[in-house]
Amino acid sequence: MSKYEFPVTRTATPAAKPDPDNLGFGNYFTDHMFRIDYTEGKGWHDGRIIPYAPIEMDPAAAVLHYGQSVFEGLKAYRAKDGRILLFRPDMNAKRTRNSNKRMSIPDIPEELFVEAVKAAVRADADWVPAKEGTSLYLRPVIFGTEAFLGVRPAKQYTFLVIMSPSGSYYKGGMKPTKIFVENEYARSVQGGTGFAKISGNYAPGLVSQEKAHALGCDQVLWLDGAERKYVEEIGTSNAFFVIDNEVWTASLELGTILPGITRDSAITLLKDWGYDVKEKRFTFQEIYDAWEAGRLKEVFATGTAAVISPVGEFFWEDKHMVIHDGVIGEISQKLFNTMSAIQRGDAEDKFGWTVEVEL
Ligand SMILES: *Cc1c(COP(=O)(O)O)cnc(C)c1O
Repeated sequence: MSKYEFPVTRTATPAAKPDPDNLGFGNYFTDHMFRIDYTEGKGWHDGRIIPYAPIEMDPAAAVLHYGQSVFEGLKAYRAKDGRILLFRPDMNAKRTRNSNKRMSIPDIPEELFVEAVKAAVRADADWVPAKEGTSLYLRPVIFGTEAFLGVRPAKQYTFLVIMSPSGSYYKGGMKPTKIFVENEYARSVQGGTGFAKISGNYAPGLVSQEKAHALGCDQVLWLDGAERKYVEEIGTSNAFFVIDNEVWTASLELGTILPGITRDSAITLLKDWGYDVKEKRFTFQEIYDAWEAGRLKEVFATGTAAVISPVGEFFWEDKHMVIHDGVIGEISQKLFNTMSAIQRGDAEDKFGWTVEVEL
């Protein structure tokens, strides 16, 4: 039994459920949300489920001025037998602890995080869609609410879990993406915040995303902040490169890469299947050279939203590279099928990744 009990206030005006065929991503919000507050001296208190609604904040709240804010992203899946499954929520809880620490936000114990997520899902269990490819996207967010304009950690915080039913990422099948290799702006630097899922890491990347879109690309590949040489990530997902019989992905040790849970799961599965996975530092020039020599077999990105996103093309300075003839590679497809099946309870969960939300 959990030591956390959260009282539930149900909405008097439940919303109509959106059409499961047209959910998209992040468009609809469920009837309820989880909320807990933090006050210095008192700790996290008054965890509760309340109707989803706008929140009131002081105009001097710390988050609005200095961006003291952390978020997470995970999904609840509907299994064929009706059960609701979470995918490795303990990993989101651990990552939140690291993000909070970097942002001088008080620690959220792992159990509080997981129980908050479960309570939220339980309150809106009827919002977990059942159609193939759909899920309930969960967005935990923690931010400083104290009204004070000095630059120091806030003494008051709010932690919410909001939820959004989301559609199949790949309507009409998985489609390889076109990627713009960003050689001007950087996402992350050593000693910075790249490893933490903090709100402030994302708005500065929008300008690059706009550059990519203007060039007809879907996403950005980020290079390292110091030299713009080393491969880091693709958009808000981790990047993998299949070169001959090895699979390369950027290593986490410099603290510039977001440690994706899908990344970790892909590495575990690939190793289990006998692939030689190398977590290391490598340049985009090395990738280009491997491509030129015909040794770059597949490229894909990993993240909660799409699970696996195969890359079909790169645009790097004046160079244009087509990967695997622009069609989905074998490894990308196998990872996508396997991971999606485990998440929905359709395949053996040999690593114990899924967690049922008991109703
Ligand atoms: C969230 C995120 C990822 C993917 O992490 P998952 O846990 O696999 O969803 C990768 N990179 C960045 C920058 C992210 O914000």
